[in-house]
Amino acid sequence: MAQLLFKDVNKVYPNGYHAVHDFNMEINDGEFICLVGDSGCGKSTTLRMIAGLEDITAGEFYIDGKLANQMSSRERGIAMVFQSYALYPHLTVYENLAFGLMLEGIDADVIEEKVQATAKILGLTDYLERFPRNLSGGQCQRVAVGRALIRKVSIFLMDEPLSNLDAKQRVTMRSEIKQIHRSVGATTIYVTHDQTEAMTMSDRIVVMKSGGYVQQIGTPYELYFYPKNLFVAGFIGEPPMNFLKGKIEGGNFVNEAGLSFDIKPIVKDAASIEGKAVVFAFRPEAIKLAKNGKAGKNEYLIESSVELTELLGDTTNVYANVGDFNVILKVNPHDTPEMGSTFKFCVPYKAAYLYDQETEEAVPSDMKRQ
Ligand code: ADP
Repeated sequence: MAQLLFKDVNKVYPNGYHAVHDFNMEINDGEFICLVGDSGCGKSTTLRMIAGLEDITAGEFYIDGKLANQMSSRERGIAMVFQSYALYPHLTVYENLAFGLMLEGIDADVIEEKVQATAKILGLTDYLERFPRNLSGGQCQRVAVGRALIRKVSIFLMDEPLSNLDAKQRVTMRSEIKQIHRSVGATTIYVTHDQTEAMTMSDRIVVMKSGGYVQQIGTPYELYFYPKNLFVAGFIGEPPMNFLKGKIEGGNFVNEAGLSFDIKPIVKDAASIEGKAVVFAFRPEAIKLAKNGKAGKNEYLIESSVELTELLGDTTNVYANVGDFNVILKVNPHDTPEMGSTFKFCVPYKAAYLYDQETEEAVPSDMKRQ
């Protein structure tokens, strides 16, 4: 197992592109960390710097307290799983698993033992004599994981390992990888653009934005309930958070849709944002029906016109307009409003967020989210 420390780590590619800016983080022994963000935000670059496949342009990277900037990949004690699996097509599953160990000159009976043990963990025992072309995508991915696992490394790096699988296989492999992590305990850094994967698998998530800027580092709970800025608020959660632009006037949030909400209950210091352009935000799943068209205690009331409804089974997505703003609301299917109708809903104070439009940062609040 290994503890990792990044101090102001930067990557500038030879063509001058600055792909990662001031990455700072401490990763504990055995933690499962996801790097998440849109394509091109610097996730793979960060992973490749950890692996020693890319030079670190500036800053320091430590493994177990030792400066690792110049360490070879081998010295770092890492194994990496790629999106493409990178299996040898002309070798059987057994040989694919054994290959790295054979190169290291390990005894055949030790290899046999390790291959059998790894195959057992991954449910590959019955497939050891098959070639990759005769395996499903999920099985190929298991072999790729097995190849990394068999080397008993202390750092496990995975770059979008599930993106070639179909939705059902992804869900299965997600929990398998988690289980493997639990039993092996290696510090794991996992790159994905899929926030559901990140939310379900991680101890902590690093949200990155294009240009290689870290936006927030936190547990799935922290990122969902306490997003620090508009980017994270919009990135974590599906459907995404609703944003209504407006400004603060006389301690109220007001906007062109005719909303006027006293914001004192939900911010630390209303006076400090007087006159500012802000965004009022709430999650689709956090709203409540307005009983008799009225807000309950500690709730804001919003009127919307319903454009479209989508029954998903356990819930209905309602696409509606609040003035000129589009919102998505999740409601109980039995309470689905008619398309074209007016729908009044409530946002509990504890589910209402305010962001500064200029800085895009959350307006400080003591609100305990639930
Ligand atoms: P992600 O994994 O988040 O999709 P990457 O880390 O692969 O993003 O890439 C980050 C940025 O760096 C992208 O804009 C990409 O085009 C650029 N990039 C990646 N590799 C190189 C390279 N060898 N030279 C120049 N730019 C690169």
